Amino acid sequence: MAKIVLDGVDKVYSGNVKAVDDLNLEINDGEFMVLVGPSGCGKSTALRMIAGLEEITDGDLHIGDQVVNDLPPKDRDIAMVFQNYALYPHMTVEQNLAFGLKLRKIPKAEIKARVDQAAAMLGLEAYLKRKPAALSGGQRQRVAMGRAIVREPQAFLMDEPLSNLDAKLRVQMRASLNQLHERLGVTTVYVTHDQVEAMTLGDRVAVLREGRLQQVDTPKILFDQP
Ligand code: ADP
Ligand code: ADP
Repeated sequence: MAKIVLDGVDKVYSGNVKAVDDLNLEINDGEFMVLVGPSGCGKSTALRMIAGLEEITDGDLHIGDQVVNDLPPKDRDIAMVFQNYALYPHMTVEQNLAFGLKLRKIPKAEIKARVDQAAAMLGLEAYLKRKPAALSGGQRQRVAMGRAIVREPQAFLMDEPLSNLDAKLRVQMRASLNQLHERLGVTTVYVTHDQVEAMTLGDRVAVLREGRLQQVDTPKILFDQP
C-alpha cells in the first residue's frame, strides 16, 4: 500500500492541448479515490500518468516516498484494470490469473495460493478451467480484477472498469468493488464519468473539469452541497 501524491502536475499533449493543468492531489494510503468529470476533462490522462503510461510535462508524482516521474510502469508496483478486459483469449481463467506471476518467476505453490485466493474473493472458483469466451461480461471483468489482485500491488488504478457492463451488472460489481476494497485496503484510484459510481465507491471524490481540479471531498459532503 502506498500514498500517491500529485504535486503541480501538468500534461500538455502535442498540438498544445493542456489535458491536465496544475493538478494537486494527495491520495492517502489505503484510500479509494475516484476521479470524476465529463469526457475530455483529463481523468484518463491523470491516471495514465500515475501508471507511467504517459509522461508528465511538469510537476512531481510521488508513490510512497519515491518521486517516480521517470520510473517505467513495470517498476511502479501498481496494477491497472481497464474497461476492455484485455484477457488472453486462448488461456483459461486460471492461466490468465497466473500469467503475470509466472513471468515474474514466482514459485508455483505461491502462484496457486494467490490465484485460489483471488478466485475465492471474486466468486470465480467454478470458472477456473473456462476460457474468456465462455464467460459473461461480469465474470470477465472479475477475471481482469483478479489479475490485478494476484500481483499484490501497492496500488490499483482503474479506468472505467464497469462501463461496458449492463446496468444490473454494474450495480453488482459496485458492491463487489466495495467489498474488495474493504478486505484488501489497497490504495485505489478509480476513473469514471458516472456520478453514482463516484458517490458509491469513493472514500473521496476528486471532481475534474477541463484539466483542473474543481473540488475534492467525501461523497457525503459533495452530496449535501446545495
Ligand atoms: P477523459 O479521460 O476525462 O475523457 P482524457 O484524459 O482522455 O479525458 O483527455 C483529456 C484531453 O486531452 C482531451 O482534450 C483529449 O482530447 C486530449 N488527449 C487525450 N489523449 C491525447 C493524445 N494522445 N494526444 C493529444 N490529445 C490527447
Ligand atoms: P451473469 O452475467 O451470468 O449474471 P455474473 O458475472 O453477474 O454473471 O456472476 C457470475 C457469478 O459470480 C454468479 O454465479 C454469481 O453468483 C457470482 N458473483 C456475483 N457477484 C459476486 C460477488 N460480488 N462476489 C463473488 N461472486 C459473485
